[in-house]
Amino acid sequence: MTDAETRADTATADPAGPERPEAEVCPGCGAVLVPGPVGSSPGASASCAGLFEVTVRGLREEAAQDVRTAALLQLATDAYAAQHPVAGEPAAAALRLCLWLERGTDPLRAGGLAGRVDDAAPRLPSRPVRWTTTVADLAADLDVVDLPALVRSWAHAVWTDGAAAHPAVRAAADAVLTGSAAGR
Ligand SMILES: [Zn+2]
Repeated sequence: MTDAETRADTATADPAGPERPEAEVCPGCGAVLVPGPVGSSPGASASCAGLFEVTVRGLREEAAQDVRTAALLQLATDAYAAQHPVAGEPAAAALRLCLWLERGTDPLRAGGLAGRVDDAAPRLPSRPVRWTTTVADLAADLDVVDLPALVRSWAHAVWTDGAAAHPAVRAAADAVLTGSAAGR
């Protein structure tokens, strides 16, 4: 390999150059990212968590003043968490996505429903082998598509990718909403 080829070969994690940062694969969503801003989120690589934090920073700053932004931030947070499940933990984030996307529940009710969601969230035996959209795709498209549209299509993709779990998650959503109605 010539020097020029080595320099051009930036798309892989091949350690051809000692100075090159090594890309890491996120154990949750599978995004391949070179180290950038570092964050911390269960089930995610530090680079992936960092990229998510940077991507939603504007939403976090506005959420206190604007309920629509707060709802969008909740949707983004749940899409991200659903994509980064922790083995053995109940799938509360996937359950919330079901409530927001399929049942028309307002994401702003997340706090009030938290107890019921925790009680009903199923433990899922498997996770999707591949996610069609990750936060890396979101970040890459931010220049051309606005964030609310990106977050909505990402959340739908995350929910759709988890199709194998839909029966269990929908049953849990029914339990949450039934309990919610009975509790009033
Ligand atoms: Zn990830």
